[in-house]
Amino acid sequence: MPDDCLFCQMRDGAIPVEKIAQNEYAFAIRDINPRAPIHVLIIPNEHIPTAKDLTADHGQALAGVFTLATEVAKLEGVFEPGYRLAFNIGEAAGMTIYHLHLHLVGGRKLGPEG
Ligand SMILES: [Zn+2]
Repeated sequence: MPDDCLFCQMRDGAIPVEKIAQNEYAFAIRDINPRAPIHVLIIPNEHIPTAKDLTADHGQALAGVFTLATEVAKLEGVFEPGYRLAFNIGEAAGMTIYHLHLHLVGGRKLGPEG
């Protein structure tokens, strides 16, 4: 993993951040630039650069990410009526930190993707 990865440093506690939830495989933090009333990032502990780099070996880490997302949705009160989960990949999608992270967005009526 690159030494300068922000999310690896948050995982390790080198950069202090409020983890609003975590499990064995992932942790959740609030997006510093929220696009909706609820905007949380679900980050696998393992340094995986993007969704393009996923393989079958990441199955357990991904399950950890998605189960934590469900937990966060309940904690944040958006489990009903619903929310969006999204991965950005690359510059055109606005990806700025190359450590896989799932966006959980909700708390208002969401428009179409894109
Ligand atoms: Zn990392």
